[in-house]
Amino acid sequence: MNGNLFVVVAPSGAGKTSLVSKLLEGDHNIKLSVSFTTRAPREGEEPGRDYHFVSRATFEAMIAAGDFLEHAEVYGNYYGTSRKWIEAELAGDHDVLLEIDYQGAQQVRGLFPTMVGIFILPPSFAELRRRLEGRGKDSAEAVEKRMASARQEISHVLEFEYIIVNERFEAALTDLVSVVRAARVSRAQQRLRLPKLLSEFR
Ligand code: GDP
Ligand code: ADP
Ligand code: 5GP
Repeated sequence: MNGNLFVVVAPSGAGKTSLVSKLLEGDHNIKLSVSFTTRAPREGEEPGRDYHFVSRATFEAMIAAGDFLEHAEVYGNYYGTSRKWIEAELAGDHDVLLEIDYQGAQQVRGLFPTMVGIFILPPSFAELRRRLEGRGKDSAEAVEKRMASARQEISHVLEFEYIIVNERFEAALTDLVSVVRAARVSRAQQRLRLPKLLSEFR
């Protein structure tokens, strides 16, 4: 495994999807894992691009078949990461990014201890609610479910290597880009990428 594995976690509405999609626009060397979910598509979401949308029965059959690297139940729906896709990407030199919940991040950490965990925090609880409501894609009931889970999600913030507060969007994006760049020049990565250069100086 020569690439970095980035795992981005945030309570719903913190801006994870907006930040990650801007990061990927400017950096074609990171591949985003498209999760499987049993939640219904939101307006504007495309199967295969945002999620692979499947029924509960299909998801359960996939769990039984061992198709998931990790899976979790979040806000009453299943979400999971394809094992085959990740293993193929990491076997190459690509950096891979997962947008998953903290339960999934804990499972991935068990499998890949060198993963780079990044937690996106909203500037306040009140602002989190404003963003969830402002997005206008979830029912009032779904917003309440997400707010109720936010505190639990945030209670895991200190399990992550990096914590980014998404107050001003551009500043948070610069922080995220910086984390990616720092990971690429870490000792562990450079040992893999620069064996020839490093051996010249031994
Ligand atoms: P969002 O939080 O507003 O982006 O709403 P979504 O319905 O897209 O995602 C709900 C939650 O499920 C978020 O916490 C995601 O990070 C999480 N999630 C998405 N895909 C996966 C996955 O493959 N595995 C796990 N464990 N969680 C996932
Ligand atoms: P998540 O994927 O974490 O649920 P989204 O990326 O969908 O979050 O963002 C939630 C809402 O907040 C969206 O409507 C988005 O446009 C908005 N948003 C994201 N970042 C900011 C920010 N820094 N300031 C104000 N609004 C933001
Ligand atoms: P979510 O990740 O919660 O499904 O999407 C959050 C909001 O950002 C939605 O309004 C969604 O339409 C928008 N969004 C951000 N990035 C993307 C993206 O890459 N694809 C799509 N379809 N929507 C996105």
